[in-house]
Amino acid sequence: MIALPPGATIGILGGGQLGRMLAMAAARLGLKCAIYCDASGPAFDVAATSIIGGYDDLDAVRQFAKTVDVVTYEFENVPCALAEAAAEIRPVRPGVKALEVAQDRLNEKQFIAQLGLPVAPFAAVDDETTLAEAAKKLGLPAILKTRRLGYDGKGQVRLKRTSDLQDACSAISNAPAILEGKVEFLLEVSVLLVRGIDGDIRVYDVPQNTHANGILDTSTVPAPISQKARVRAADIATQIAEALDYVGVLAVELFFLGEDATEPLIVNEIAPRVHNSGHWTIDACVVNQFENHIRAVAGWPLGDPQRHSDAVMTNLIGADVNEWKNMAAEPNAGLHLYGKNEPRPGRKMGHITRIGPKSGD
Ligand code: AMP
Repeated sequence: MIALPPGATIGILGGGQLGRMLAMAAARLGLKCAIYCDASGPAFDVAATSIIGGYDDLDAVRQFAKTVDVVTYEFENVPCALAEAAAEIRPVRPGVKALEVAQDRLNEKQFIAQLGLPVAPFAAVDDETTLAEAAKKLGLPAILKTRRLGYDGKGQVRLKRTSDLQDACSAISNAPAILEGKVEFLLEVSVLLVRGIDGDIRVYDVPQNTHANGILDTSTVPAPISQKARVRAADIATQIAEALDYVGVLAVELFFLGEDATEPLIVNEIAPRVHNSGHWTIDACVVNQFENHIRAVAGWPLGDPQRHSDAVMTNLIGADVNEWKNMAAEPNAGLHLYGKNEPRPGRKMGHITRIGPKSGD
């Protein structure tokens, strides 16, 4: 295994808070980060170098790649052509395949289903006719989701009755979509896994995730699911990572239907990057998800993902961040602010992780 030595530079496509926390983790290991983003963002404050370049500017990204030793990305909507252009110059980890799968909900569902892993019933929707057929096949309630560029519950319409079908396509601007049967889950969990370039895999403890207004609100570890379910969750994520020949941190979001369900865990979606539901690892694990992603893409041995504390991570959305002073005074809490100026509604401004003694699993 060829590991980049301390002093080497990791190029990151994307300059948001995930890039920021990646750069901070890299610095801890004596590695530098260079950011490539279409606008200035939270990562620019902490990286060794940052450049503004268009996500369609293939020459600019090739030039950028020449200045770094390896390239990674911090969001899954990096255009594949941009990642491919960078890959002409330097290794891109995770690879372009992970982007192709994760960027398109139809590809993603088909890919996961082909591995024999459980997903919600789904059908492709291109217009009102195919929506009517899909609704007939899957039944209602169901959720119409755009194939591309949906996140934090955006680009989704919930369909309860037949009359809801009427305006559903126009509500998502007639974009190519999929219809998904509504899953009656008990709770939502995620798996954060890291895979090294030699195929070594480490898995973090599984958090339970709650959402508010379609945005992640809290991640709590350990999730209240059995050891058997945790093992199954890790196995599902491992199969996906291996099928993608993945390098780096992969997040797999799952619905948990109950211990006695025929299929206790169903894959919702994957994110080929460090993930908001893994932020608790900074304060509650020996080596956190950001450092492990950096280690993986730099070809280093992976770090110990062991959790030393129980944790509840709460996102600070919009005006929540105004309480920063009170939160900074809290004992047993790690406060993380992303350096964004305007606390607009729905904007992720930071997070706080409250830790406690590790409970038995
Ligand atoms: P997504 O953007 O696909 O992660 O969806 C956002 C949230 O909507 C999820 O975290 C779930 O709470 C809910 N959701 C998405 N798909 C389904 C489904 N097929 N059945 C039930 N709830 C869903």
